[in-house]
Amino acid sequence: MFSVRQKREIANKIQLILRETNHPELPQGEIQFLLHVEGSSPTSWADIKNNGAVSNPSVNPWNEAQDYQNMDYKLNIQSIFDSIDGEMNGFGGAGELSTFVRLKGCQLQCNYCDTKYSQSSEPENWMFIDEIIQQIHFPKVTITGGEPLLQKKGVEELCSGLVYGKSCFISVETNGTIQPTFFLDRIRYVVDFKLPSSGMIKHMKSIVFASLRAIDVIKFVISDEEDYKYAKMLIQEHPSWIAKKVMSPTVNFEGYSFEELSEEGIPSTIMDWPRQLAEMMIKDKVDAQLSLQLHKILWPGTKEER
Ligand code: SF4
Repeated sequence: MFSVRQKREIANKIQLILRETNHPELPQGEIQFLLHVEGSSPTSWADIKNNGAVSNPSVNPWNEAQDYQNMDYKLNIQSIFDSIDGEMNGFGGAGELSTFVRLKGCQLQCNYCDTKYSQSSEPENWMFIDEIIQQIHFPKVTITGGEPLLQKKGVEELCSGLVYGKSCFISVETNGTIQPTFFLDRIRYVVDFKLPSSGMIKHMKSIVFASLRAIDVIKFVISDEEDYKYAKMLIQEHPSWIAKKVMSPTVNFEGYSFEELSEEGIPSTIMDWPRQLAEMMIKDKVDAQLSLQLHKILWPGTKEER
C-alpha cells in the first residue's frame, strides 16, 4: 500500500489541484480532505501534513522514517555557512542562528541581485544529501540561492532528511517563479514577488502566491516609491493571498569599501530609504511588516558569505 511519503505527495497534488479550480465554495488557505485509498484506512490532510512534527524518527508512529531518508540525491551547492537569518522567515522575527545552504543556479537576473556569483550553475559542485546534512550546525536551516526550487526534488529530499532526521526548522527562500508543492509545518517558504525595479516582474505567477499558507511569507524587496505603490496595490487586490506580507527596503552600500564601513560605521544616509518606507507604510496602514536586512547592517559591505 502507499507509504507515508507517497501519501504526502498525492495529498500535496490534490491540495494544489483543488486550489487551482478557484471554486467559490473552497475556503481560503489549506483545504481539509480525507485521502481514502481502497484497502487502507482514511488519512486526513492534517495528519499527513502534521507528520512533519515527529521529533524522533525511531518512535515515529508511522514507522516509516526511513522512507524520508533518500540520500541518493545530489544538489549543486554554492556554499554552506553558519550565520544569522537576517530577515523575516515565517518562524518569527529576524536574528535566529541558522545554517545556510546556498544552491547554485538562477533563471532570473534581478537588477539588484546581491548574490550574482550564485546565478550560474557552474562550476558545478554536487554534494550528496547526507554530506550536506553533516554540515548543519543549528536547528534552523535556511535554503537559499540562486533559485533553490530549480533543484526541487533534491531540495524536498534534503528537507525531509532535515525534518525527520534532525528535527530541523527550515525556511526556503525562493524567487516567485516556481510553485512550492512540499508542505510540512516545519518548512516555511519565503517567496519573493519581484517588483518593477527588479526588471523581472513579467516572470511572476499569481498561482504561486495564492497557494501559500498563512505561515509562509511573501517578500517584497522595495527599491523605490514605484515598487512600494505596486506592492501596496497587490496586497489590496489579493486578499486571498493569506501568507504574511513583508516589505524589505534595499540597503545599498555601493561605493563604500568594507574597510571604510568598519572604521567609520554605516553612513546615516543609508537608512534614509528604509525610514521613508516605514513612514509610508505607517501612513497608509498597509497590511505588511517591515523587515530590515539585519546581516547587511551587522556586516556592511563584506564580500564574505553572510
Ligand atoms: S532571484 Fe535571487 S538569485 Fe536570482 S537573480 Fe534575483 S536576486 Fe539574484
